[in-house]
Amino acid sequence: MEMKEYIEQAEAALLHTYNRYQIVLDRGEGVYLYDIEGKKYLDFCAGIAVFALGYHNEEYNNALKAQIDKLIHTSNYYYNVPAIEAAKKIKKASGMDRVFYTNSGAEANEGAIKAARKYAFLKDGTTDHEIIAMNHSFHGRTMGALAVTGNVHYREPFEPLIGKIRFADFNDYDSVLAQVTDKTCAILLEPVQGEGGLYPAEEDFLRKLRKLCDERDILLIFDEVQCGMGRTGYMYAWQKYNVKPDIMTTAKALGCGVPMGAFLMTEHVAQHSLEAGDHGTTYGGNPLACAAAEKVLDLFEKEHIIEHVREVAPYLEQRLEELKEKYPCITERRGTGLMQGLVFDRPVRDIIAAAMDKGLILINAGADIIRFVPPLIITKENVDEMVSILEQSIDGEKIC
Ligand SMILES: *Cc1c(COP(=O)(O)O)cnc(C)c1O
Repeated sequence: MEMKEYIEQAEAALLHTYNRYQIVLDRGEGVYLYDIEGKKYLDFCAGIAVFALGYHNEEYNNALKAQIDKLIHTSNYYYNVPAIEAAKKIKKASGMDRVFYTNSGAEANEGAIKAARKYAFLKDGTTDHEIIAMNHSFHGRTMGALAVTGNVHYREPFEPLIGKIRFADFNDYDSVLAQVTDKTCAILLEPVQGEGGLYPAEEDFLRKLRKLCDERDILLIFDEVQCGMGRTGYMYAWQKYNVKPDIMTTAKALGCGVPMGAFLMTEHVAQHSLEAGDHGTTYGGNPLACAAAEKVLDLFEKEHIIEHVREVAPYLEQRLEELKEKYPCITERRGTGLMQGLVFDRPVRDIIAAAMDKGLILINAGADIIRFVPPLIITKENVDEMVSILEQSIDGEKIC
């Protein structure tokens, strides 16, 4: 069947919750994707910051195949070896003490919120605790995760969501302080805001939040679903800032394509929050997903992914700065590591579509930002190739 026919069938069968680009993808190789008609694309999206190791990594694929032949699922009533091995590796990589596996980033945030509420409940027996979240944040689409997402447009049609959420401005300590009450049980934020526009936290802001949380026994929760797993040049972004959260969530690159997330906590929070019976999941932490995470963490070490990000990210940043200088319609470059954005003075959808025609996959963050979250294995040559196609795309649109 041709691509056009498949797309028609998709539009007849799938719920219309996405404005999809008009390609049907078929296979991947390294940093390249191929559609079903054989056209090749350089991928600077990585399945939205997921496929850190690139496509068709043989060792990763073999680990999954071996696990499929052994055991795919058991439920959490029993132990399984991949879940144990992966938990040890996640603890080591994150510096946190306890792991609860989920199937997605949103679910990881749901768990984090439950843990924080239970922690506060155990302290005073009341149930009206508040959580402070940030404007322009993104934490997922389920009801709890949506409730803490700082985007009215995403939230409004689905209200009432979970209550007692207050919003403050990212990187504005006083605005957070203004929302703190005796009922505040947690402050939740992304150390680098992703969907909301590629805003890295300022170190001073995170340090002040840590101090405030320590003084008031408020839990500091970091959502590292997008910025974690090496993207900032550190395994987790908290390590870059040296400000450690009490609870942290991770997903996206953790399974590198197999649905996999986790919420993690310190031993102190673990001892004073969720207990047997408080939380559960059927699929979360199943042997297949855990075999994936285990191998991903192995490969991060073996393939020196963090070191590579530190080498290639400054080059991407430099080339994006050059683009900003060249084109007046680009107003700003933002971001850190391999999590970058170019802010345009207009919507970017046409530029992204033009780039796709020319064999480059990009994504947006909001209407006017092109987001660059490539596989972490990209090379400087890949960056040059991306920049060259992007330049042709901007020139072709005759917009600046
Ligand atoms: C993508 C994302 C989520 C949601 O993850 P899903 O797996 O789509 O549920 C949550 N937080 C952040 C920061 C994200 O980027």
